[in-house]
Amino acid sequence: MRLSNYFLPVLKENPAEAQIVSHRLMLRAGMVRQSSAGIYSWLPLGLRVLNKIADIVRQEQALAGALEMLMPTLQPAEIWRESGRYDDYGKEMLRITDRHDRDLLYGPTNEELITQIFRDSVRSYKELPRNLYHIQWKFRDEIRPRFGVMRGREFLMKDGYSFDIDEANARRAYQKIFVSYLRSFKRMGLQAIPVAADTGPIGGDLSHEFIILAETGESEVFCHADVLAQPVPEADYAADLTPVIDGYTQYYARSDEMHDAAKFEAEVPADKRLTARGIEVGHIFYFGTKYSNAMKALVAGPDGKDVPVHMGSYGIGVSRLVGGIIEACHDDEGIVWPWAVAPFHIGLINLKPGDEATDALCEQLYQNLTNHNLDVLYDDRDERAGAKFSTMDLIGLPWQAVVGPRGAKAGEVEIKNRVTGEKQTVALEAAMKILSQPPA
Ligand code: ATP
Ligand code: MG
Repeated sequence: MRLSNYFLPVLKENPAEAQIVSHRLMLRAGMVRQSSAGIYSWLPLGLRVLNKIADIVRQEQALAGALEMLMPTLQPAEIWRESGRYDDYGKEMLRITDRHDRDLLYGPTNEELITQIFRDSVRSYKELPRNLYHIQWKFRDEIRPRFGVMRGREFLMKDGYSFDIDEANARRAYQKIFVSYLRSFKRMGLQAIPVAADTGPIGGDLSHEFIILAETGESEVFCHADVLAQPVPEADYAADLTPVIDGYTQYYARSDEMHDAAKFEAEVPADKRLTARGIEVGHIFYFGTKYSNAMKALVAGPDGKDVPVHMGSYGIGVSRLVGGIIEACHDDEGIVWPWAVAPFHIGLINLKPGDEATDALCEQLYQNLTNHNLDVLYDDRDERAGAKFSTMDLIGLPWQAVVGPRGAKAGEVEIKNRVTGEKQTVALEAAMKILSQPPA
């Protein structure tokens, strides 16, 4: 992508409305613009990151056997009346009446709609297990939308739903998603801590929130430090996953909502007690037959008798993750993207557009890198060098490649590692090699 053809409205000044660093940097780097409280437009640079995060989620969900579909944002009120949640949900739900006076709502989540689809389509245990998910915009009329995309009113969520014949099978479905979430967050450069979460009136031990540590997070985490030392699991979904899950859940790990100070002190030695702030990036839940009972989602079991299907639901805050990753990955100059979610891998800076040798070397690098499937943002604009450098630092691409007239004559490129700040001057061929790998 040539910057001269791109839309990258960076801001020099810190926007006054932004209280946390990710919000500030997303506005300054031209990733998003607020349209009204908690509702954002995603500009080209921001959308690239959002899509990369969604693609990691897609790949890991596919490995875990979940199938992607797409449900609408608007839902009929009737199914929410069937489940009993239409009145319970309160003011967070955005309610709409259409021209025929029918009640609709902008979906805050999709248990009802997926249960309706399932009950109308599946009759027998032979068609189980199934795990269906989509990545779709949600609306919750949050009382205090804040921190940019972290607590929006309209936000992008991956939400998945599992269907099983009984609790034992539903537990397996839950374990698979537990593993897939650990893997997904790791690939985004994040370490997520699974913490025991409130299961509500149904009870049981099967709800976890996934929290990444960040000072600006809205949750508080209390855990045994060894949770952080657990290995990221393999995607071996045919294996028994219980040991992996036990590896994580053997330790005390809770957020403020579930915290029990006496238990924490009794179970965790003083030198291992970790108390920190964090951001909830995922939440998984086994809720048994709550919706299948209410909405009559029954399947015929092996004995021919109808039984309500056992369900779980699994959410990832895709748009919140963009902010969450920035909270974890930035410095004084700007964002420092992990390779896997970087909007571009390389920022190529032409220090003297119009200089024949410089243009030629830049073009060659740009073409070669692009042909190797690398995403390159080529700053070919007629701008001051200082402005180009600070823009590249601000938008945080993992590598910068700088070409000026002197280097171009010698066939050399200066490469900067955005993570360490380290610079080296190398010939074209060596540059190609270095730039096609994530910086160390
Ligand atoms: P929170 O406690 O942060 O309000 P929640 O528990 O209501 O979140 P869930 O229903 O568990 O949210 O939704 C699944 C995921 O969607 C959350 O883990 C979070 O990452 C994301 N999410 C929820 N609410 C918002 C929001 N207002 N803005 C952005 N992301 C959100
Ligand atoms: Mg939650």
